Amino acid sequence: MSLNRDDLIEALTYLREAGVNLVAWPDGPIDDLSLPLDLSPAEAVEYVTDPAGVVARRCGVSVNDLIAWREADGKYRCHAITCKGKRCRHVVAGEYWYAFERDPAKWASFERLGRCCLMHGRAAQGERP
Ligand SMILES: [Zn+2]
Repeated sequence: MSLNRDDLIEALTYLREAGVNLVAWPDGPIDDLSLPLDLSPAEAVEYVTDPAGVVARRCGVSVNDLIAWREADGKYRCHAITCKGKRCRHVVAGEYWYAFERDPAKWASFERLGRCCLMHGRAAQGERP
């Protein structure tokens, strides 16, 4: 037996109307930061083949931002390039010092500011690190 997409959505809609919740637990930036995501029947069907696309859309970010948020462990990382040519991985301090940011849209918004860690922030202002 195989169901097409419309049949699946119809079946899930039937279940949902009976009180069955469709909840996914997408990956967060760290293992225990998987937040429940309540899905519509159409989203549940799409989630099977494109979980990142569904999560990104629901969070209001691009798939690339979602992936970057996960790879940064949800932390605000320094934007400086080290002498080895790699991006500094130090956490940006100050008012944005959190263990991690749960909201990928908020994380992506701050990420676009291109802030540096304390050491590279001083270097950027002409001081010795
Ligand atoms: Zn740095």
